[in-house]
Amino acid sequence: MFLQLKGIAASPGVAIGTAHLLDCRAVPLPPLSTVAWAMLDGEVRRLEGALAGARDELLSAQENLLGAQLAESRAIIHGHEQILRDPSLLANAVDRIRNDRLCAEWAWTRTVAVYREVLSAAVDPYLAARAADLEQLAQCVLRHLARSEQHHALPPPAGSIIVARDLTPADTAQLNRSEVAAFATDVGTQTSHTAVVARALAIPAVVGLQQITAVVRNGDTLVVDGHLAQVLINPPAAILTDYRQRAQDLRRRRTAAEDNGQGPAVTRDGLPVRVTANLQYPDEIGTAMRCGADGIGLLRTEFLFLNRGDLPSEEEQARAYREVVDGAQGSCVTIRTVDLGADKLPVGVSPGNEVNPALGLRGVRLSLQHPETFQVQLRAILRASVGRSVRVMLPVVSSLEELRTARRALDEAADALRREGVETAASVPVGVMIEVPSAVAIADLLAAEADFFSIGSNDLIQYALAADRGNQQVAYLYQPLHPAMLRLLATVARAARARHKPVCICGEMAGEALHVPFLLGLGLDALSTNAPAIPEIKRVIRTLDQRECVALVERAMQLGTTAEIANLARAFHHDLGWSADGATDEAVESLPL
Ligand code: PEP
Ligand code: MG
Repeated sequence: MFLQLKGIAASPGVAIGTAHLLDCRAVPLPPLSTVAWAMLDGEVRRLEGALAGARDELLSAQENLLGAQLAESRAIIHGHEQILRDPSLLANAVDRIRNDRLCAEWAWTRTVAVYREVLSAAVDPYLAARAADLEQLAQCVLRHLARSEQHHALPPPAGSIIVARDLTPADTAQLNRSEVAAFATDVGTQTSHTAVVARALAIPAVVGLQQITAVVRNGDTLVVDGHLAQVLINPPAAILTDYRQRAQDLRRRRTAAEDNGQGPAVTRDGLPVRVTANLQYPDEIGTAMRCGADGIGLLRTEFLFLNRGDLPSEEEQARAYREVVDGAQGSCVTIRTVDLGADKLPVGVSPGNEVNPALGLRGVRLSLQHPETFQVQLRAILRASVGRSVRVMLPVVSSLEELRTARRALDEAADALRREGVETAASVPVGVMIEVPSAVAIADLLAAEADFFSIGSNDLIQYALAADRGNQQVAYLYQPLHPAMLRLLATVARAARARHKPVCICGEMAGEALHVPFLLGLGLDALSTNAPAIPEIKRVIRTLDQRECVALVERAMQLGTTAEIANLARAFHHDLGWSADGATDEAVESLPL
C-alpha cells in the first residue's frame, strides 16, 4: 500500500531503497504461569537452543563483518559471544526453570535482571558496561525463544534505508555506514545523533516520523526525501521514476558544488576563516579532506567506547587517533576527550542509572571520575600527536576546576610516558568546549587558562534555552538565532579575543548558511561542521564582507525575537543573492531558525 509520512528534515537529499528495520522493541513475554513438571526438560532445551541460536547469529554476523573489515564490530561481537557462553548464566536460568517452574522466557528474564542489577551497581566501569550488553543479548535470546526471524545484529544489505525508532551512537557504530542509503526514524530532531551522522555521511534522513516503524515492513520500497521531510512507502512507478530523476540531478549538483571546498575561505574584505570538519568515526577523514576541510575541528571519540564489553586499550585508541591525524595531511586535528552520558549512551564507562542524564555525569565530569580510564585516553592522544598538529578539547566543562584538573591529568600522562621512555608530543594545546551557560558566564576566567575555545552550540542551545536537543515536543524552542544565543556567543567571542585565544564553533549551527554571517560578525575564527557541508559554507564565506557581518550582528542585537532576527538573516541572505547557484529560496525558507 502506498503511504506518505511527514517528519522533520534532518539531512538533505533524496534516496530510493529497500527498508531495513532495526528492531529495537522489547520482545513481549508470555503470561507468567507455572509450567507442568513434565514440560520442564523441554523448557531447558528451548533455552539452550535459543542461546545456541543467538551465538550462531553472532558468528554469522561476524563473518559478514569480516568482509567489511570492521575491526571494532568484530571485537564487539566477540565480547557478546563470550557473555552468552557464561556457564553461570545458563545454570542460574535452568535452576529457575526446575525449581520455580518457570518457562524459559521468564527464567531467562529474571536471571538476566539479577545479573544486570549487580553489574550496573558495580564500581568497576568494565563490569558496569556489561549491563547494557547483557540487556541487548537478553532481547536477542528472547527473540530466538519467540522463534522470531528479526535480528538486529546482521548488517543490512548495501543500499538499504534504515528504519528505526531512533539511532543511537551505539546503533550507527554497528552499521556498515558507507553502504546505507538513508535513515528514517520515529523520533529525533535536527541535532539528534541520527541527523548528525546522516549529514556527515551525506545521506538523506527524515526523523520524527512518529509511526514509521509501525507501518513499514522489511523489504518495502521507500523514498526518503530529505528536502520535503517526507518518506514515501511503496510509491507507484511514476513517482519512483520522478524521484530517480531528482536523485540523479541532486547528485550532479552536489558533485559540481564540491569544487567550492578547495582552497581557503576568505571574505571579500580579506578575512580568512578556517572551515574544518566534525568527525564521528576515523574512516570519515578521507571524505573530510576531499570536501576541503582545513583540518578537523572536532573528532568525537565516543565510537571507541560503544557496543563493547571492555574499554578500548591505549594502543587501540592511539591507532584510531593516528588514522585521523595521518589522514589530515598536516592540518590540525582537535581530539575531543570522550563525551559519554546524556544522549550518547555509555557502554564503556557507565554513569549508572540517572534520573536526568543531560544534567548528570557526562563529558569531562565522567572522565574526571574515572582517572585511570582518562589517563589511557590522554596517553593515546599524546602518543598519536608526536610530530603532528593535535589539540585536546574537553567537553561539557562547567568550571575552572575541571579545566585545571584535566590539564593536570594531561601533564601526568605526558610525564608518565616520558618516564617510560615512550615518545610523546612536547606540548598539546588544551581547549574548552563552551556548551554550558556557566562556561559562558566564566568565559573570561576560562580564556585566561584555556588555549582555545570551541562553542558546542548543540548543547549550549539546549542548556541555555532549556530545550532538550532530542525532544520533538520542544523542537520549536530550540532556536540557534534566539536573542539569548547571540548574546551568549558574543560574550564568549569577546572573552576569547581579550586573551588572544582562538574561538571556533563546532555545533550544527556552523553548518547552516543562514547562520554564517552572524558567526563571522561575532568574530569567530573557525567554523567546524559536517564534511559534506564544507564546500557550501566556504562558498558563502567568500560572498561575505566581515564589516557587513559586524553591522548585521549590531542590528540583530537590537531585535527582541528569534523571528525578527531570522527575518533579518533572510533579507541579508536575499540581498547577497545566495540563491543564484541553485540553493533554492524554498530551501532557505525551510532552514531552522
Ligand atoms: C555540541 O554540543 O555542539 C557538540 C558539537 O557536541 P555534541 O553534539 O557531540 O554534543
Ligand atoms: Mg556537546
